[in-house]
Amino acid sequence: MILRTHNCGELRESHVGQTVSLNGWVNSYRDHGNLIFIDLRDRFGLTQLVFDPDDANAAGLAVAGDKHAHTGMMGLADKLRNEDVVAVTGLVRVRRGGENPKLPTGKIEIVVTSLEVLNKTENPPFLPDDNAALPNEELRLKYRYLDLRRPAMQRVLATRSRAYKVTRDYFHNNGFLEVETPILYKSTPEGAREFLVPCRNVPGNFYALPQSPQLFKQILMVANADRYMQICRCFRDEDPRADRQPEFTQIDLEMSFVRREQLMQMMEGFVRHFWKEMLGYTVPPLQRMSYRDAMEKYGIDRPDTRYDLFIHDISELAARTEFAVFRNALEKGKDRPKFNSKRGVVKAIRVPGGAEKLTRKITDGYSDFAKPFGVGGVATVKYIADPAGPKFDTGCAKFLEPLKADFVAALGLQPGDTVLFIADAYAPATKAIGELRQKVARDMGMVPPHGAQGGPWNFLWVVDFPMFEKNKETGKWIAMHHPFTAPRDDQRDLFVNAGVEDDDAIESIVSAGYDIVLNGSEIAGGSVRIHDKAVQAKVFQLLGLSPEQAKEKFSFLLEALSYGAPPHAGIAFGFDRLIMHVLGTENIRDVIAFPKTQIGQDLMTRAPSFVPDKQLADVHVKSTFDPNAQAQQPAKA
Ligand code: ASP
Repeated sequence: MILRTHNCGELRESHVGQTVSLNGWVNSYRDHGNLIFIDLRDRFGLTQLVFDPDDANAAGLAVAGDKHAHTGMMGLADKLRNEDVVAVTGLVRVRRGGENPKLPTGKIEIVVTSLEVLNKTENPPFLPDDNAALPNEELRLKYRYLDLRRPAMQRVLATRSRAYKVTRDYFHNNGFLEVETPILYKSTPEGAREFLVPCRNVPGNFYALPQSPQLFKQILMVANADRYMQICRCFRDEDPRADRQPEFTQIDLEMSFVRREQLMQMMEGFVRHFWKEMLGYTVPPLQRMSYRDAMEKYGIDRPDTRYDLFIHDISELAARTEFAVFRNALEKGKDRPKFNSKRGVVKAIRVPGGAEKLTRKITDGYSDFAKPFGVGGVATVKYIADPAGPKFDTGCAKFLEPLKADFVAALGLQPGDTVLFIADAYAPATKAIGELRQKVARDMGMVPPHGAQGGPWNFLWVVDFPMFEKNKETGKWIAMHHPFTAPRDDQRDLFVNAGVEDDDAIESIVSAGYDIVLNGSEIAGGSVRIHDKAVQAKVFQLLGLSPEQAKEKFSFLLEALSYGAPPHAGIAFGFDRLIMHVLGTENIRDVIAFPKTQIGQDLMTRAPSFVPDKQLADVHVKSTFDPNAQAQQPAKA
């Protein structure tokens, strides 16, 4: 085989006159009669090859003394097709047909003197060409190796690879120890559903794939690792969602002998380092927002602060109207404390310029949009100019008009605005109006482009989350972050002393958790951990784990905590998400080399797949799946 002396991206004018060898794929093929042009491609670039019998003779074949070789070579070259794999030797010369300024190698070409066909290709289902229309995603995933040959996907792989290094550099330089934790792990109730792996050697027992290395990293702190990092795979068997993958990558971190502040500073340093190294962008100091403020102003714990569309709580004003929708909602849980999930509220969004842009058809759809979040609907009104002075118009105008001055002042209304209202219990009303805010921003064209495409980068910390929230279906407490998250330092005693039956008290406890939010997406989340057995036991109790169950699931953790656990805190960054931001894409599958479809299938390897009964028997598993039962057929991708 002709071995390469250079790659396809490195030859310049300074190489003119040299004899070189290249290996690669035929990227494009142009036959001009007795002259053939080929762009040869490898990971590093494209180089133009010229097959010209006269020039080749002059340049090389005559030297080799083989007068017939060129005819053979031209015959071979003539049969080359896109994606064939070849090796060539030739002479570098200045391009005769004029420079191609788009290519770094655009000033030169190679007059080929020998050609070796290393492998012919079958006719590919599509060409890895960024300029051609992309085939559908199913085909791209099935022939992922062809898709990955596209320069755009090559850039993704290179970006990821650089991001691993940039990440490691920062944490290694800051004294973090890289430790691998097990993939075959134990089933623990951390939040999401787990993937189970049957165990052949211990019949009836199962490993679980880790949702995250959470407990190992905490135990590493007890083990004096002091600062831990790992770029690791996490597994969650969750319901299909467009932006989720059943396995994804995290930058997982933990630090000993710190409180919230020190951890946040270290991680902010990482964010700054990462954006500087990856994109040359200097991240300004991150703003901090409390969970409560985020929920009040944005209706979500990962606020997108790139557009000014704010939520207002107008409950007090709404109570003075005659509007039954408002008044009935405000009757709900009216003896409960402010911000209690069950207490009725009326929330409003003022949409500047909405009167014109949000047509009746659009606003009529908002009730259907909001209902799945547990509210009755969305009331609307326009505030419009009128010769007699601005006035409310359409929708619930007649109920607002008597209190016009107060509404105008409370919402800062200007003629031409639309106002949207949701009236219900605090929890569903807040959730629904937060989602509606994002929808309205899209409908109004207010969402700026990605940071990577010149739009703003709005980073912020969200802090002071509640420790617990009620699961809507079961009515039971669940940990808002995870059960190993500590109460904020000033809340510890309140928490330990709160009665387990005192829902309002439990709901009001604030945790030492924190998230980093970027342009409305959560890029990292973590917390100060519980290092004190009494606090951990109380959390398990609230989550409905009896001391026996807690022991069965977590005895290793509880034991470790009892042997001198240092105070510690940690966080995990969603690595795939970071890459999506760096590249400005919305599609998580585009930043993973071998991703799965929305329903968790790998279309290339055809995983998951049926296994024969014999293999199941080996691991002591019996399948209840009935291939004849229609309802159980796996859904199509
Ligand atoms: N283990 C957490 C997660 O995966 C992150 C953390 O608390 O460090 O979300």
